[in-house]
Order: sequence, then C-alpha cells, then structure tokens
Amino acid sequence: MAFPSAQTNSTTPIATTRVVVRLRGTVQGVGFRPFVHRLAIRLGARGEVRNVGDGVLVELEGEPGVIEQFLAALSREAPRAARIESMEVHAEQPQGVKGFRIAGSRTHDEAMPGNGKVLAFARVAAVPPDLATCSDCWREFHNPADRRYRYPFLNCTQCGPRFTIVIGVPYDRALTTMRRFTMCVACQREYDDPTHRRFHAEPNACADCGPQVAWSVVRRADTDMREPALPVVHATDARNENALRAALTVLRAGGIVAAKGIGGYHLLCDARNADAVARLRLRKDRPHKPLAVLVDTLSTLRTFADVRASAVVSLESPAHPIVLVPTSKGAAQPLAHNVAPGLDSVGVMLPAFPLHALLAADGPLVCTSGNLSDEPIAWRDVDALRRLAVLADGFLTHNREIVLPCDDSVVSIGDDGHEQPVRRSRGYAPYPIPVAASLPASIRASASVLAVGAELKSTAAWLAADQVTLSSHIGDVGSPETLEALTLATGQLEAMHHGRADVIACDLHPEYHSSRWAAERARQSGATLVRVQHHHAHLAALMAEHGLPGSTPILACTFDGTGWGTDGTVWGGEMLLGDCTGFTRVASLTPFPLAGGDAAVRQPLRGALGLLHRHGHDVSDNAIAPMLHHTELTSEARRLMIQQLERGIACVETSSMGRFLDACAVLCGGPAKVSYEGQAAILLEVLARQYPGTRMRAGYNIDVHEGPASSVNRDGVHAPRWLMNPAPMLQALLWDMQAEVSASRSLNRTQDAWADAIAPIAWHVHDAVARVVVDIALRVRRDHGTNHIGLTGGVFQNQLLSTLTARALETDGFEVLQHRRVPCNDGGLALGQALIAAHATQKMSPTSSTSRLTHHLAR
Ligand SMILES: [Zn+2]
Ligand SMILES: [Zn+2]
Repeated sequence: MAFPSAQTNSTTPIATTRVVVRLRGTVQGVGFRPFVHRLAIRLGARGEVRNVGDGVLVELEGEPGVIEQFLAALSREAPRAARIESMEVHAEQPQGVKGFRIAGSRTHDEAMPGNGKVLAFARVAAVPPDLATCSDCWREFHNPADRRYRYPFLNCTQCGPRFTIVIGVPYDRALTTMRRFTMCVACQREYDDPTHRRFHAEPNACADCGPQVAWSVVRRADTDMREPALPVVHATDARNENALRAALTVLRAGGIVAAKGIGGYHLLCDARNADAVARLRLRKDRPHKPLAVLVDTLSTLRTFADVRASAVVSLESPAHPIVLVPTSKGAAQPLAHNVAPGLDSVGVMLPAFPLHALLAADGPLVCTSGNLSDEPIAWRDVDALRRLAVLADGFLTHNREIVLPCDDSVVSIGDDGHEQPVRRSRGYAPYPIPVAASLPASIRASASVLAVGAELKSTAAWLAADQVTLSSHIGDVGSPETLEALTLATGQLEAMHHGRADVIACDLHPEYHSSRWAAERARQSGATLVRVQHHHAHLAALMAEHGLPGSTPILACTFDGTGWGTDGTVWGGEMLLGDCTGFTRVASLTPFPLAGGDAAVRQPLRGALGLLHRHGHDVSDNAIAPMLHHTELTSEARRLMIQQLERGIACVETSSMGRFLDACAVLCGGPAKVSYEGQAAILLEVLARQYPGTRMRAGYNIDVHEGPASSVNRDGVHAPRWLMNPAPMLQALLWDMQAEVSASRSLNRTQDAWADAIAPIAWHVHDAVARVVVDIALRVRRDHGTNHIGLTGGVFQNQLLSTLTARALETDGFEVLQHRRVPCNDGGLALGQALIAAHATQKMSPTSSTSRLTHHLAR
C-alpha cells in the first residue's frame, strides 16, 4: 500500500488544505463511508465521501495537521472488513466547503486531479465476503431488552452475509436475496441514517421484518441404518424459538440435524456422543476423515483443546474459519474419540452465524458440510431436502435464500504463528488478491483470464487489471453437481467483472472434467485456451501471493499427490526452477510404480510394494507381513499386486511425494487401506510428532543422482536434472523396523510402547525429505544464484515437514516462501494458472495455437 504524502500548494493560504483521496480495495459494503464521516466530524475536517466505480473518493478540506491526522487514521482505524489496497492523495485549491456529508454516487465518469479517471461504475466490482457477527451485534443479540434479542439474522455494515446473497452488482439490497423482505419502519430508519452503523447495511433485518427459521422432521422406519426407501420429510408448524427447541431435542437425543447456515447446509450432531458421531459417519459414508466441531465460546473450546493466542486471532477474525488446533491430552471433557480418529488435532470454529450460537449453547457440535462424500455442499432448499433426507433426522431451515454455495474455510496455524489456508472459502472469497507486481503493465491492461483449477479441492479464478478474484471452494470436480457449482462460480465471477474471459486456463491433464469443461467453454465463446502444467501453477501461485516479479525465477519445491507432467507421466515430487513464463525441472523423486494407478490413493500398500520392488527389496509375505501392523488386505490381494508389479501390468510410474509418504507410512506399520487421500501420511506425521525431534541416531539419507543427460530431451519434454533417490533411506528404515518388530515380540510391548519405539523412525522420514530439499537448493544456488525457495503443493499441509524444511533452509540462509493467502493444495492452483496464462497470451502471436503454446512453456 502506498501512502503518498499530500502535496501542499505554495499559493494556497496556509490555514486550509484541500485534498482528494482515492481509495481502492474492498471499501464498499463494509461501512466505509459512515466511518469516514465519523472520522471527519471527530477531526473537524470538511468535505464529502462517496462511492465510485472501483472504490471510495473523499474530498477533504481542513488545516494541514488535520488532513495529516485524517490520512493516518484512514488505514489505522478502518472497519475490520475493509481492505485498502491503494490510496492516492492529490492536492487541490480549497473551495471553502462547509460541513461533511455522505454524497450519492455519480452516474458519469470524472477526471481526477493529476492524471487518471474515476469510474462511475465498477469495471471490477468489489463484493465483500460473508462476515461473522460483530461484537456490537453480539451485544444486541444477548441483551433481553434489545429488539433483536436472540434474532439469528441480525447484522450490520460490519457483519452478516454478502457474497452468498448477491444476485448482481453493484452490491445493493435490490440485487440480493434480501429484496423479498421489506424493511419495517425501525429498520428502514437505521438503514437511512448516515450516522448509524446500519447505514446501508444491505441485509438489515429484525424479527418483525426479516427472515425466519422453520423446522421439518424426517420420518424413517429405522434411524440406525440408511434406508433403502427414501425417508419422508415432514414440515411442521414450529417456527423460530419453537423450531430451535425441536432441533435441540433431536441433537440431545443423539440425532442428526441438517441446518441451513450462511453458505449452505451443515450436518450437526453432539460431538461428545460417540454413537451420534458413528451414526453420522455411517450415513455420510465417511469412516475416518476428521469432522469439524462448532463451539459456542472459547471457554468451551478450552475444555478439550489447547488454544494458542495465534489460533484465537484466526478463530475470532471476521472470517471465522475452521482452525486446526491440538487436542488436549487428558482433557476434562474430551470430544468423542471418533470425531478425529487417530489424530492429535481437531478443526474447530466459533459461530459465524447467530443461529449456530443458539444451537451450540448446549455443548460442542460436530458441524460438517451437508453433502455426501465428494459432492458440493447442499445450498438450495429443495435440493437439500432431496439429498440430505437420508442423512438427517430433521431440517432446521430458513427463508433467506443462498445464491451460491460457500463452504466454511479451514486454516492451520504455522509454527511461526501465521495463518496458513487449507480451504479458502467463506469469509475470504471473493477478497481479491493483488498481483500487480507479478504482471507487467502491458499484460495488466489487456487480458481477462478465467482459470478453472484442477480436479480436487477446486476453485476458479478471474484475473483482470491488477488483481485475481478466487471463487469459493467448489470441491472435487467429477459429479454433475460439482460441474454445476463450477458453472455457477464462474458465472458469478463474470457478473462481478461485467464480462467474459478472453483467455481460459486449465490443467494440462486431458482427462480432468475441469479441463474438458474449459475446452468446451473456450470453443463456445471463442476464448483462447491455455493448458498449464500442474506444478508450474503451484509455483506461480506462490510467486503471486508474495508479490514477486513474474519473470524472476524461484526454486519451488512442489510436493503433492498427483499432477500431469509435460512428459505424460504422473509427477508429484518436483523441484522446479522457474517463473510465470516457464520452468526447468531441476529435480524429481526417483519414480516408482503404483500397481493399479489411482487405486494406490485408497490402498497405500500398493505404493509401499511398488517402492520396495523398485529398489530391489523382497516383497514376499515373509519379508513384509510382520511390519504390516494392521493390514486389512488379504495375502491373496497382496499376491495379485506383486504379480502386477513383476509383470508390469496396469502399473503407473510416479514421482509423487504424497504417495511416497503414504508408502513410508505403511512401512512404519500404518494402514494398508485408507478412506481419504493422505490419511496414511497424516498418521505418520502424528506419530512422528510424538518424537521430540532431537536427532538421536544417524539420519536417513535420500541421495541425489545425476538424472538423464539433458534436462529437456529431444521430444521437448522435461526430464529432471537430478533424481532424489530414497534407496539408502529405505534400507535403513527396513532394518530399524525389523529390529523394533523383534524387540516388541520379546518385550511384549504395549500399543503405546510400540508407538514410542517407532516414532523416531517416522520423524527421520520427515527429516530426510527436508534435508534432500536443502541439498538440491544448495546446488541450484551454486549454479544459478537462486536464494528464494518456495514450499508448495498439498504435501506441505504437513506441518512437521513444512517446519523442518523451512528451518533447515533458513539455517543455510535461504529465503523461504510459504503460502499465506491461498492454500498450498490445489485450492490455490487457479491463481497460478491465471498468471501463467496471462503471461503466455502476451507471448503468443495471433496465429499461434495452444499446442504450440504448451510446447513453448516447457523450456
Ligand atoms: Zn454487526
Ligand atoms: Zn425490521
């Protein structure tokens, strides 16, 4: 943010200065004008404030000292939901204006002093995200004397729904789903009063005039099992407090309630009732994946979790995301064991929506997205009743319509106390991400780019001018429902930007649904299609969020589950040296075969056998069975996998770091079969964290070998310069495990003692990966002088690995870049795709084809 100082004009009488201040960013719909009004009155400045197309314009007169104070206070005291991205100050001749007023918006563009123009209507309209209830509103909510006492839809300019109720722009009540509710006299008075905090609070409402809650019961023959016949949803007369009582009765009895929130439906149950949680898991077909928990207050949260100050900042931020916090050992009132089975942390959130506070008043509730696995969250009432009736015992709905789905956001807190996004959605979308530094001016002026992400955890992105707007979380693109959510999200981005994209960016993978969707959309609209390599997009996303110039290379360590490589193989353990215009594949994990390809995601044993087989180890039952601590796969199934490996049938070669860590987890006694991606590797991380982390024995080594002769082979595809070969580590790990297995037999160890014994092995796996990253980074610095090392890709959600790697790199003087604004997983990919596509179209001649373009990027 730039703060040019106000220039004083020497011909002006010294007593008065006039400045015109232009503010851009998210400054509309967040109570900015009333804030400026209050500030001007307080300081005794004169003039006016009004909304303009891309921000707010303030005309200000007063003594120079007053103007200075005003400018300083603007960013310091701005409303919590405002984001000032830029501030321009121009000096003018004073006009002797009296008083200060909030002026109406103009209908014509205006010339600015200096050069430039203020647009009457936005080219880039800033719709704020949905904001959690603010402290002023909570005070009213809890005050029996207030007219909004316990009213779940109260809001003001500092809080309430925004993004999810917007039908069109500009952001105005008439273009939100609140238009069906006519404000009562009292609400209208607040809305019209420039000094009131509800001045132009578009969703303003009270119990007399606003939305209401209703209750429906689900009738089924047997609530313990999912029914073959569809259950019947039966609307009742219960409204508001009666509806709430009905829902609480069901929750207390261990039932499941589908409750409509801000961005969609949640499924709720008592988080301390293991039977209720088990029932929810059975119905949702989600045996192990951790469930989020809603708590009414921080003090409830502290009965079962350790909450650091940095976590509190995130929990109480206007976004109110789900925050991953460590569970307390020996907690007074622990959660049910099956809320986050096998893990040492849990995702928790405070109520962002007052109805959630009323529901959680009894105790912590499991609060998970209302969907069947992999579908998008249900958000439309009719659709929710159809899809969720098999899951819930009752529906707590309301009549404020949701325009598009917006899941809860998820963040973790890094070792350094920084927030790291895991899922960027409600409360963050659609705050734009400024990318001016990563784009030359010539590109900024021209293209608008739509990027559609990859296949999992998708978000869409829109690049226009000098910012990228990311959609809410769309989910795993595969079902017709998610493709519809993608269409809706891109439609919303188009509406916000009044246009269609000139360029559409998608993943290089030809079979992804999102790639097909993008190709079809480009064909229909005549837009240019750009296919972007997966890990290159991760690299560019990291550069953009750190404001690095798009053409200064960084070394990006991109570790994830899977991504289509330029050579047509599956990549995932890559170190790329590059920028937004291209990359070199500096290093890669030595590939290993996965029998059955993608089946290895749910059966990490396949990866473990492939790894052993590739490095010449015995894979017979005699050799490995003792280490498979709790194998769920029969020896017959194992025999078939080994046959596949030996004959090379249906095997996919991969350099995936995600699959590699899964495989290591199996060799450390982890599950052979899992129910969600990365589960085995996550359990390995939990195990490793039990070890204090002082290196007691010689570390494991991943060797670095020279790769194939040329980094770009004859066909123009990328072969890595170096291979990271885990053979020495694998050998040492096997010896250590065999030693612990026989020690356990002779000592008759308990489960806990066994975990203590193998925790150092798990820790050293992480340490070895961290150290090989440093090894490669040192070689690259020696050859190219590169000192910026990025850590990106879903594997870096692993906090232990992130911390070990970052610390080791920093010890050697590297500047480490980690994600702060978008997730390191594929949820942040669209940002990078958009930037790469913008750079690529700049380079393209009008006649060049997309296939040539892809080739060109592989340098
Ligand atoms: Zn409020
Ligand atoms: Zn009212």
